[in-house]
Amino acid sequence: MAISPNNSGPHLLVVGAGFAGCFAAKGAIEAGYRVTTVDKKDFFDIKYAALRAAVQPDSQLAKSYAFKYSDIPGLGSFKQASVARIGKDFAELDTGEVVKFDYLILATGSSNAAGIFAQPQGLTLSSRRSELQETFALVQKAKDIVIVGGGFVGIELAAEIVETFAGKSVHIVHPAARLFDNKSIKISNWVQKWLKDHKVQIHVQERAVKGSEAGTNILKLESGKTIRADLVIYTVGAKPNTEFLNGSEFAELVDKAGRLKVNPDLRVVGYPNVFALGDINDVKEEKLGYLATQQGQLTGKNLALLEKDRNAKLTAWKVNGGVSNGAMLLSLGQNAGTGHFGSCVLFSFMVALAKCKDMFTGKVWNELGVQAGA
Ligand SMILES: Cc1cc2nc3c(=O)[nH]c(=O)nc-3n(C[C@H](O)[C@H](O)[C@H](O)COP(=O)(O)OP(=O)(O)OC[C@H]3O[C@@H](n4cnc5c(N)ncnc54)[C@H](O)[C@@H]3O)c2cc1C
Repeated sequence: MAISPNNSGPHLLVVGAGFAGCFAAKGAIEAGYRVTTVDKKDFFDIKYAALRAAVQPDSQLAKSYAFKYSDIPGLGSFKQASVARIGKDFAELDTGEVVKFDYLILATGSSNAAGIFAQPQGLTLSSRRSELQETFALVQKAKDIVIVGGGFVGIELAAEIVETFAGKSVHIVHPAARLFDNKSIKISNWVQKWLKDHKVQIHVQERAVKGSEAGTNILKLESGKTIRADLVIYTVGAKPNTEFLNGSEFAELVDKAGRLKVNPDLRVVGYPNVFALGDINDVKEEKLGYLATQQGQLTGKNLALLEKDRNAKLTAWKVNGGVSNGAMLLSLGQNAGTGHFGSCVLFSFMVALAKCKDMFTGKVWNELGVQAGA
């Protein structure tokens, strides 16, 4: 269990100890808050590294990809539980415990359809390690693999598979006219060429008939085409984890996409003591871990202002962290990638150096001050 300094300030409850929650908790502890951090799992997982960890479960990267919360100093008092219900000044945990708060941070992230490939289903580090072995066995056994969705996750997963396993037939099915269609044509074309050079078969303007592969090993597409598939991995449809707000007074502030409405300073509209950070808020930007981290860091500083003056004017979040058009790095295995900083497209070798070797695991360990080996 992480050691909490003997703070006596207001009580901050952090729900969801991902990128946003952990960095906000650390900032609040430094500002003198008593902090309770709640997460349903007993470990932090670096989602950026999940796909490589899933196909290389015995690698050093897979070992560093996840670590126990007890190895992160400065999270305050940590409770492993799911939050079942939130009220104006309390949260009810699935253990039955009710935790009162002065300030609340909601940072429960989002779930991706790629299941155990992208994110943990089990709640303990040891169960996650078993899931990684299961994903490896699934991929190893399959000869024909179809990835449904040619966005960030689908592309990175296809690249990890072809780089790790020789002789697989890998397909990507995508509804738009090009993969990665929310990025520039230049980036899309570069990615598509890399994938084709690595024998990935791309099916654009096609939709899979979900579940049609069950018991048949043949995936049907809506066009009538079929693809042989020993393994189908759906990567579409990331969803914010805000279901626990259903029936609460916050429910009416959740938009159609499942995101919680916030003011520019990331406080929930109408709730001056409640923040919503990272993937679950309705800030109009690509939902990315480095932005969730920066939102957590900003909120730590804003809480320091509130500790001095409850009516302090807080610093507003700058959309995309202040970078016009945002920034993004996409890995294509360990030695190639693409991305952009604003409107400037990055060279493959730059992305490989910055991200692809260790998938930012070293950076996250340093920034969180992780103290023990995984
Ligand atoms: C495969 C993949 C690759 C990615 N690659 C990149 C990348 O290269 N770069 C990048 O910047 N971003 C990347 N992202 C996006 C990035 O991971 C997310 O934007 C980021 O994790 C969001 O951070 P967060 O703090 O909002 O939520 P999360 O990191 O998702 O953390 C949320 C936490 O809340 C907990 N939780 C959920 N519900 C409850 C509940 N009811 N009670 C208690 N705890 C709960 C969860 O267990 C989790 O620990 C990737 C995502 C995926 C899936």
